Amino acid sequence: VSVSARAFLEASGCRGGSVLAFSDVTEVVAAVRARETFVAAMSHEFRTPLTSLIGYAELLQDDPSLSPAARSDTQVMVRNARHLNKMVDDVLAAATSGVTEDYRLPLDLARLVREQAVASAPEAMSRNITLDVDAEGDLPILGDRTGVVRVIDNLVSNALKYSDDGGKVRLEARQDGAWAVLSVEDQGIGIGAEDLDRVFKRFQRSSAAVRSGVPGTGLGLALAQEVAEQHGGELAVTSELGVGSVFTLRLPLRQP
Ligand code: ADP
Repeated sequence: VSVSARAFLEASGCRGGSVLAFSDVTEVVAAVRARETFVAAMSHEFRTPLTSLIGYAELLQDDPSLSPAARSDTQVMVRNARHLNKMVDDVLAAATSGVTEDYRLPLDLARLVREQAVASAPEAMSRNITLDVDAEGDLPILGDRTGVVRVIDNLVSNALKYSDDGGKVRLEARQDGAWAVLSVEDQGIGIGAEDLDRVFKRFQRSSAAVRSGVPGTGLGLALAQEVAEQHGGELAVTSELGVGSVFTLRLPLRQP
């Protein structure tokens, strides 16, 4: 049962009484629970075979007995299995949407960026992409860990995904006044001016991304922007087609 209460005043300004409203939310709660159970089950069903697929393909690509051609084919397998994993993540995150846990936990943005750099290093290395990281010290924020990690992961994964092999991606976490700021810069395919607003909408992709043949759902940035806004922050991009992009995440610094 959901209860809401409101006091009302009489014309004289004196308190006239209160209204209590009781509503039966059994069905709403049941629907939310059913959705959560479904997403958890789907998540398990998708992830178990995918994790195994990625693990074995990663082992295979390091097998010294592989011919150069077979190694390059295996690398394509690993890359696409990782893409598929990321897409499953995005679709399931969109189904639950938004902040997942307590979003007032003390976090350190600089540390999360350093951890992401470690997590993304194998992918960068396998594509010969230089991953520069400047995220010293700490940048205290309050946030939902799962949500903020997902945003950082999405920005870094995109920077790698839309870069050519041998490119360069730079992560910088810094303080700017009352803000903790992360910028993710790449020298990849870029985004045309006409697509700049669209890329933050669900299921929207730039024409350059579609042309490039790189798979994607167009969900990650929309979710990332939702999470940034739920935290009182913002996510913005500057980009030039064929030159590269800079995504900037700003989250309020935790006040002492
Ligand atoms: P996707 O799964 O398609 O990558 P996202 O929501 O993460 O979905 O991104 C939306 C779109 O924004 C992408 O399809 C691509 O067109 C564009 N985009 C995102 N990041 C970059 C980037 N670093 N460089 C170029 N384009 C990007």
